[in-house]
Amino acid sequence: MLRALQLVRRLRDNSAFVNAFSSASGSQRLAGKVAAITGGASGIGRATAAEFVRNGARVIIADVQDDLGRAAAAELGAGDTAIYTRCDVTDEAQVAAAVDLAVARHGRLDVMFNNAGIGGDMRSAALASMDMADFDRVMAVNTRGVVAGVKHAARVMVPRRAGSIICTASTAALLGSLGTVAYGVSKAAVVGLVRAAAAELARSGVRVNAVSPHGVPTPLAMRAVAQWYPERSAEEHRRIVVEDMNEMVGPVLEEEDIARAALYLASDEAKYVNGHNLVVDGGYTVNKPLNMPAPGQE
Ligand code: NAD
Repeated sequence: MLRALQLVRRLRDNSAFVNAFSSASGSQRLAGKVAAITGGASGIGRATAAEFVRNGARVIIADVQDDLGRAAAAELGAGDTAIYTRCDVTDEAQVAAAVDLAVARHGRLDVMFNNAGIGGDMRSAALASMDMADFDRVMAVNTRGVVAGVKHAARVMVPRRAGSIICTASTAALLGSLGTVAYGVSKAAVVGLVRAAAAELARSGVRVNAVSPHGVPTPLAMRAVAQWYPERSAEEHRRIVVEDMNEMVGPVLEEEDIARAALYLASDEAKYVNGHNLVVDGGYTVNKPLNMPAPGQE
């Protein structure tokens, strides 16, 4: 009995088995597709790479964390299933090269997930003492890097008249109270970019959408909260993201929830979804409590 259990566990942890099983169960929503994911070495990007591979895609993981990126690619499968490439999105040539790598290795790029991002320095969060160098760094990665990703994905997708471009924005694009000014501006710009690009590309067969996560305890979010509340413990920081920022009672927001939202936008199930910002926040941004007691609660 114990040996049977061990065998099942070994099979479950084996990516080839997972892929084969997904295929057999007909859940391969990206079968035969090729995706590039910036920021794919960690957090939301890494979870999305795994979700895409589980659904039959081959992925290019583009990041600046070489060890993590290589480990993620190795974990996701042998051969060309997942390839890591170093790509600093602030350098347009490196973004172009990551896109060209997909085409060179697989002959096509079906999905571009522009997801790489940084939180910026929470210690310079206040407007009056804002560090303009930090503003420039955040904009270079979160906005300019995404513009480069959209541009080069369009370059190879438009001639094929097919493709799905997804950009990671944030609930910070919608509410002024989350993150630094730089971060909020950079993410609001991503939503604007998605609208402009979707409008331009609508007749070319290429869709462009955003996904806007709320708080997920990734390294980016944990760093931001740690800078915000330096006197508190790591455990407290995690609790702030997982519980205090959570709108729902029961479910908590996980990387995989964003990965599944990206999977939907990437797949043909979303064939008529274009220029959309898919907010995954449990309703956080639609709830603004009254600044006074509700009727009957005075
Ligand atoms: P993360 O730190 O786990 O992942 C971000 C990845 O981006 C890292 O692997 C990092 O190396 C990479 N990256 C940073 N700068 C880069 C550059 N110049 N070129 C290439 N790669 C670079 O954090 P995450 O939370 O998974 O972040 C993914 C995206 O989600 C970001 O755009 C972030 O702004 C957004 N987001 C996160 C949250 C959250 O609470 N975690 C909420 C809303 C939006």
